Amino acid sequence: LEKGKKIDVVVFDKTGTLTEGKPRVTDAVSCAENFTIELVLLLSASLEKLSEHPLAQAVVSAAQEKHGALQEVHEFENLAGRGVRGRIGNDLLLVGSGRLMREFGISTEVCKQKMEELENQAKTVIAVSQNKKIIGIIAIADTLKEGAKEAMEKLHRAHIETVMITGDNERTAQAIAKEAGIQKVFAQVLPQDKAEKIKTLQREGLKVAFVGDGINDAPALVQADLGIAIGTGTDIAIEAGNIVLVKGHPLKVVEALALARITFRTIKQNMFWAFFYNIAALPLAAFGL
Ligand code: ADP
Ligand code: MG
Repeated sequence: LEKGKKIDVVVFDKTGTLTEGKPRVTDAVSCAENFTIELVLLLSASLEKLSEHPLAQAVVSAAQEKHGALQEVHEFENLAGRGVRGRIGNDLLLVGSGRLMREFGISTEVCKQKMEELENQAKTVIAVSQNKKIIGIIAIADTLKEGAKEAMEKLHRAHIETVMITGDNERTAQAIAKEAGIQKVFAQVLPQDKAEKIKTLQREGLKVAFVGDGINDAPALVQADLGIAIGTGTDIAIEAGNIVLVKGHPLKVVEALALARITFRTIKQNMFWAFFYNIAALPLAAFGL
């Protein structure tokens, strides 16, 4: 809102910003004969135990409910924005997005229909593979924050465009955007590319506000004309933002923008009166009146 220029578009991060950021496993499906649902969960949880991603924590909790002992993992590797890999005994395991599977040349064909069905329900679906063969899929849901839909309606009424940005797949992203009433979606954006997307919008001549909570949101918060950090998010995001929403409520974004406009109007009014009095009163005073 520098120089009184109005924000044209507000870009929201998905996980933890629009959603509660408390994902839970809703479905687990076996896609190979010798693998039960329990085994699929157990193997993936063994890897996810070593990851700090919110999705990983959901998988670990789901496996713990099944009371199985987690396996020892070697050569663990975190693949940012895509998933995790590691070895259990001699078996190579991969847990992550469809994109990750494609990257490693693993066909998801046997479970494709089920994956799409779950993604259309706004769930994030992660695939599990062992030795380059898909063995199962796990669907994870995260609830939309209260007031998200109302916040979008208010922004649209103020002629501000709404965009969602996420590392999640296109189908899930579209389903959540529809639920929240968001106009545009950037899906499958790798963490390091979020700021680049903001730059693209700015190059179109738009003034962009970005709302985010995670470590990987910090560059985008800095790049945006206005960075709004979610106070319940990570310290790095809070440090990078211009505004911090203490309770992380989406409706507070609308309030912050409205407050900024009112503040700016008051500043202009004060400036007007300050100049007006000086221009009128200084000559009078100079002439001894
Ligand atoms: P977001 O932008 O929603 O916070 P990320 O960029 O962190 O998402 O991750 C993008 C996608 O990569 C996730 O939707 C998921 O499919 C996959 N992914 C990332 N980390 C993991 C993990 N630890 N386990 C499984 N899948 C993961
Ligand atoms: Mg986030």
